[in-house]
Amino acid sequence: RAKAAGRNAIQMFRTTMQHAASARLQLEGELRLALQRQEFELHLQAQVDARTGGVVGAEVLLRWHHPEHGARSPAQFIEVLEESGLIVEVGNWVIREACRIAAALLAKGLIDADSFTLCINISPRQFRQNDFVERILDTLKLAGLAPKMIKLEITEGIVIQNLDDTIAKMRRLCRHGVSFAMDDFGTGYSSLTYLKRLPVNLLKIDQSFVRDALIDPNDAEIIRAIVAMARSLGLEVIAEGVEQQAQLDLLQLQGCHLYQGYLFSRPLPLAEFSEVLRVRSP
Ligand code: C2E
Ligand code: MG
Ligand code: MG
Ligand code: MG
Repeated sequence: RAKAAGRNAIQMFRTTMQHAASARLQLEGELRLALQRQEFELHLQAQVDARTGGVVGAEVLLRWHHPEHGARSPAQFIEVLEESGLIVEVGNWVIREACRIAAALLAKGLIDADSFTLCINISPRQFRQNDFVERILDTLKLAGLAPKMIKLEITEGIVIQNLDDTIAKMRRLCRHGVSFAMDDFGTGYSSLTYLKRLPVNLLKIDQSFVRDALIDPNDAEIIRAIVAMARSLGLEVIAEGVEQQAQLDLLQLQGCHLYQGYLFSRPLPLAEFSEVLRVRSP
């Protein structure tokens, strides 16, 4: 009987794995079509300077409107895009669309080229394309945007894979005025070693630290340490996922004045984001 039970368990495991694999394949197929069907959209989330209340930039975040399942969060599909390689094509669309949005906001006088930066998430696979640098520069030129208007958000995943190539590409983009942020900072490993060598000028404190900062002294301490390190390296620092005024108070007490989070605004479609800018500009 034990043997039979074992066989059953194995059979159940196999069936579960097969279901997972076919669900995954189906998702990949749907994502493959999503670009053609124009099911992707970018939302924008404001980045705010708490000292002035001014919107200093925004992060563009990918949204997918599935014809049957409605809105799906990147958490559910970015990994599939990355592993299937589809992220290259989708990522290129994100860059073009982000530049188009920035140009439109500029044309409407809702943002200023000297005081507003648009942040774009870049995945490891995207960054590894041989022509990544040219692609960014060409897209900027086509949209008529100054390179200093965009900032690329990278993660430690990008850095780990090929440090020399990463540094070379970043330097070339930096020379043209494109800047970089280290996303989800504090969650990866050996951040410090890389940080000294990379031309990054903004650290984004991961939202996991912000979420528990008021209840977990360790998280508050990590925030303090990141801010201190940013200061000693001459980097800017911004906190992600700020939902409560008390979290912002704590961040400001530690010397972090830039923030992004539901406290100010959720990521919004372009029309609604434009409205946020409109009511705030004099
Ligand atoms: P991320 O780059 O760290 O983006 C921040 C995430 O935090 C976003 O999730 C945003 O909606 C969420 N967020 C912002 N404020 C708050 C808050 O106050 N509370 C909470 N709980 N969450 C907040 P989202 O949009 O679901 O994106 C998840 C991740 O997917 C991003 O994390 C990024 O790694 C990836 N992603 C999104 N768009 C793109 C894209 O265009 N390209 C690539 N390669 N990755 C993307
Ligand atoms: Mg990001
Ligand atoms: Mg992040
Ligand atoms: Mg993240």
